[in-house]
Amino acid sequence: MQRKLTFDVAVVGGGAAGVGAAVGAAQTGARTILIDRNPYFGGAATHSSVLTYCGFFTQGEPPEQIVGGVGQNVLNHLARLGMYEGPRRTARTGTVIVLLDPEVTKLALDRCVTEAGVEPLLHAQVIGAETSGGRISAIQCVDHAGMFTIEASAFVDASGEGDLASLSGGEVIFGNAEGHLQSATLMIRIGGVAADAHAHPLQVEQAVLKGKADGIEGLTKELGTIVRMPGGNQDVLAILCDEEVNGLEAGSMTKAELSGRRQAWAYLEAFKRYLPGFESAYLVQTGPQIGIRETRHIVGEYTLTGDDVLQARRQADAIARGGWPVELHPEPGKPNVWHEIKDKSFYDIPLRSLKVKGVGNLWAAGRIIDCDPLAFASARVMGTAFATGQAAGVAAALHGQQGASDYQSVRSELLRQEAIL
Ligand SMILES: Cc1cc2nc3c(=O)[nH]c(=O)nc-3n(C[C@H](O)[C@H](O)[C@H](O)COP(=O)(O)OP(=O)(O)OC[C@H]3O[C@@H](n4cnc5c(N)ncnc54)[C@H](O)[C@@H]3O)c2cc1C
Repeated sequence: MQRKLTFDVAVVGGGAAGVGAAVGAAQTGARTILIDRNPYFGGAATHSSVLTYCGFFTQGEPPEQIVGGVGQNVLNHLARLGMYEGPRRTARTGTVIVLLDPEVTKLALDRCVTEAGVEPLLHAQVIGAETSGGRISAIQCVDHAGMFTIEASAFVDASGEGDLASLSGGEVIFGNAEGHLQSATLMIRIGGVAADAHAHPLQVEQAVLKGKADGIEGLTKELGTIVRMPGGNQDVLAILCDEEVNGLEAGSMTKAELSGRRQAWAYLEAFKRYLPGFESAYLVQTGPQIGIRETRHIVGEYTLTGDDVLQARRQADAIARGGWPVELHPEPGKPNVWHEIKDKSFYDIPLRSLKVKGVGNLWAAGRIIDCDPLAFASARVMGTAFATGQAAGVAAALHGQQGASDYQSVRSELLRQEAIL
């Protein structure tokens, strides 16, 4: 007989958005399961070495914290583990970030999820949805033992790829209106770098240009960031190996992973030859998975626009704040394009941008919420994903408990949970 589990709320995907959603739902009193195909939570942070939380703070001076609630719980857990060094400005762009260590982040998220009473389920992939009358009644999952079913009253799609929205017949779009995607990047972690080596972006650019002139094959992007890992670790992370990839398709992903690894070894060679302090450098790790910025977005009840973001617009049904500048990665090898939010302030994200059109009991969170391309380039970051996740989880839990979730009750529950609105 097929295995069957029953919960009030089921959250698909355990990245920043999914952790926010599951803890938010559990704190609303819902019996909640958090499902991820990976062996740990964290999504891009732990599985693609995206080791900086952006979006927790505005970019002004001093930076203002704009994400609390579950996001603050995570920062508290990181701090207890001795790994939260507070907000920090990057050398190249002056943006405000929180540096992470991958293993500490895994443990902090395990603690955050289990202390909230969420049922964690790793190594399970969601592959189907049972629907009737425009609602999901259950989702199908697979592990090595076979297929199983999870029933719930309400669901959150925090898969990053809009899997559940798509599987349940919700409206989704791929990339921007023309199907163009922000480029993907394979992170590379490099060890053996001298403690006093400072790889300023301009030095990195010179090293890559020299490498290209000397015929090192596989180098693409010239301007990129190299950051030192926090917590006394001397390894550095290089964010340079861009790829154009359809993150939904295994064939396209395979080509990108292989090509990204070729690039990683080429960059290592260029750094060893031309960057002072990198002479004995070695490759500690790539990925593990190439970082996918964009695939599907949901079609919600409101499309957050670039104008909303850049004008720091407030919304009546605000359930989260975004403060990361618009950061576009137009295509592999091309520099990022930045646009500042008015007064380096923040904008509101409305609950309507999280509600999946056509599926009554499904909310979306994180990088798949309904945004135009400019708004997406800001709202996708992980600090903001904790906040949209918490709101989606609260909305789903209230919907399960009351049969509806209006924005006033979602906002008051979020405020009770110490979210910043
Ligand atoms: C190269 C790169 C650099 C970036 N730099 C930064 C940065 O410095 N700071 C920052 O804050 N943001 C950064 N971002 C953006 C940020 O990482 C993402 O937008 C963010 O992780 C979105 O969070 P999420 O929870 O929506 O999705 P994800 O982090 O992608 O998590 C989705 C989770 O869902 C799981 N999942 C997916 N489908 C299924 C399924 N069917 N069944 C079960 N599990 C499933 C996945 O395994 C994954 O764990 C970067 C992104 C990339 C790619």
